[in-house]
Formats: sequence, C-alpha cells, structure tokens
Amino acid sequence: MWFFPFILALVVLVGLHLWWRAKFAAQSARSAAELDNCQRRQLQAALEMEAQQKVLFDSMLEGVLLLDRHRKISLVNRAFKNLFGLKAEQRGQTMVEALRLPELEELLRRVEAEQQVLDYEFKLPDLNERWLQVNAAGITNTAGEREGTILVFRDLTRLKQLERQREEFVANVSHELRTPLSLIKGYVETLLDGARVNSEVAERFLKIIERNANRLDLLIQDLLTISALESGQLKLDLQPVNLRALVEKVFSQLQTKAETKNTQLVNDLPELTISGDGNRLEQVFTNLVDNAIKYGRVAGIITVGEKKLADGRLEIFVRDDGPGMPPEALGRVFERFYRVDKARSRDQGGTGLGLSIVKHLVQAHDGGVRAESELGHGTTFFLTLPARAP
Ligand code: ADP
Repeated sequence: MWFFPFILALVVLVGLHLWWRAKFAAQSARSAAELDNCQRRQLQAALEMEAQQKVLFDSMLEGVLLLDRHRKISLVNRAFKNLFGLKAEQRGQTMVEALRLPELEELLRRVEAEQQVLDYEFKLPDLNERWLQVNAAGITNTAGEREGTILVFRDLTRLKQLERQREEFVANVSHELRTPLSLIKGYVETLLDGARVNSEVAERFLKIIERNANRLDLLIQDLLTISALESGQLKLDLQPVNLRALVEKVFSQLQTKAETKNTQLVNDLPELTISGDGNRLEQVFTNLVDNAIKYGRVAGIITVGEKKLADGRLEIFVRDDGPGMPPEALGRVFERFYRVDKARSRDQGGTGLGLSIVKHLVQAHDGGVRAESELGHGTTFFLTLPARAP
C-alpha cells in the first residue's frame, strides 16, 4: 500500500507536466503566430510604402533617376522613361549602359566632387533638338557615407523654342523697323544738306519719306494686332455678319488699287450670315484680297466664293490667277515675317505680318486657314469657318 501515494504523486506530477507542456505549446504556437503576423504586417507596410512611392514618383512631371553608390540604377520613374524612350525598368544597369550620355557622366563626376549640382543643361543627341535641365544631389546615410545619387530631369525643349522664337521675333522687328527708318533719316539729311532748294527733288524725297513713315505706321499697327492676338487679349465682338455684304465693302475699299492693275474683283458669295466679329473678318478679307491684288497678275481676276463642307462647316475661298507660289512656301506663308519674295513684298509696302494676322483671326473664330497654289496658275486661300456661332 506504500506505493499508492507514490503512484498518486507520480500521476499528479505527470499530469502537471503534461498540462504545462500543453500550455507551453499553445503559448509558443501563439507567440510564433504573433511573430509571423508582425513580420507579415511589416512586410505589407514596406510593400505599401514602395507602391505609394512609385505612384508619387510616377505622378511627377520631372524625370527621376536614383543611383546606388556603384552608379547602378535603383529607381527610375515614368517621366524619366518617357524622356529617354526607355521600355524596361533598367534596374541594376549602370547609367552609362542605360543612357550612353557623356554629359551625364560629367555631371556625376561633379556631383561626387561637389555633392550637389543645380540647373545643369544639355542637349540630347537626337534629331529633335531636345534640351534637358538636371538637378542632382548626393545621398548620404546618418554616418555621412555616400549611399547614391538622385537626379531630377526637366524637359526644357518648349522653353528653349519659345526663347528662340522671341529672339527671332525681336531681331525681325528691329530689322523691319530699321529699314524704313534709315531711309527716312537718309532723305531728311539729304534735304537738309541742300536738296530742298530744288523743289522737284524736294517733293520726290518728301514722298519717299511719307511712304516710309506710312510703312512704319502699318508695321506698328500690325505688331500691336499680333501681340494682342498672341497674348489672348483680343476679344471678339460676335454679331450676325452678312459675308457677301462684308466682301462687297472690302472690294469697294480696294477698288482704286485694283483698277491701277486692271484687276477684276468678283464676289461669288451667296447671301450668307454667320456669327462673327465684323471688323475682324473685314481685316481678314482685306488682307487676303489686298495680297491677291499685290501679288496677282496685271489684268487678273480675283474671286471670293463659298463651298459647303460635308461636316456642316463653311469654306470660303479667295482665289487669284497670279504667278502663284512654290510648294515649299505654302506651309510657311502664315509665319510671321515670312515672304516668298522679300524685295517684292517690301516694294509693295508689305509688313510680312498680314497672313499671320489672318490665321490668328480665323482661329479666334474657331476656324482654320490653308493655301493651295501652283506656280504659274494662281493661289487660293481657304478659310474654314463654323456655320454657327463659335
Ligand atoms: P506681306 O506683308 O509681305 O504681304 P503677308 O503675310 O500678307 O505679308 O504674306 C506673306 C507672303 O506670302 C508675301 O510676302 C508673299 O510673298 C506671299 N503671298 C501672299 N499672298 C499671295 C498671293 N495671293 N499670291 C502669291 N504670293 C502671295
């Protein structure tokens, strides 16, 4: 009987042991699951952060390139891939392998020496004349060791184009102003030097001065119109406009000029009312008919007519039977200061801005312009206008 309490104690001990084991196993299973959960949450958070960063980088207009300390690519955003026409991520490649641009090699050397380089500009060696601006900085860790480099790229092409256009415009305007001005100065000096004593000579010189002063006036008026049109300051005063009557008015104003060349003006427009700015449309037809007289042939015919387009829009044409213009000029005549024959245009008192003004005014009416011509067979200008109010 002595072993009964012993067995009882053993059973209790074994029971206790089993109970502890079961409890410990459940606890360690719980801790393992908790650890696992925690790691999973951390991993998930890291993935979410990376995805957010990607969305953020991809939404940037600037191209972003992140390099590691070995100059290998660790991140590029969408704008960067678009800028350089890259298809894949290029992760792990060096910048030299991916881009092959000596300018960027030079930039990296400078960033490594100076830690930061701002407003570094260079031109891409492709045919489209693209300009880029880069801001670059080294990335260091808390211990001050270099971890990599971040480069932010901005496409400067449009800005450079605008800058060049502005410079060309200023150069053209100065040139256009200088020509009549130097003529005026020259003739005034000759008159002051004694030419005025001969009244016949004096009158001839004064007429030249008057013609050039008028040219200056015209040029300044055209420049003001162009600048108002291009800056969007010009507001149209839309009213119902009878196009046939408007063209008739333009014809009567240019009749004397047409008669000097024995030119016939034909108004083939039907009674047609559109919504437009009468004064501005008058300017459009005056410029086109005036050009047709100036550059058309002696004893020629100028016709203004209309054609309905399938999409309900109107196409008005101004046609002459003059010498026409070469095909390469057709796409350029609407540019500011473009002239097919410079001497002839100046001789006729042209400013080189007439067709550019026509294009802007028609576009302000929600329309478009184009020219068709064949050397020796005349020129036709087409204006496409909406039949209804713009
Ligand atoms: P401009 O003041 O020189 O006439 P425009 O802008 O009105 O300037 O015209 C640009 C150029 O287009 C003219 O210089 C001329 O060479 C050409 N041009 C315009 N209209 C005609 C036309 N009807 N026939 C031939 N050439 C034309």
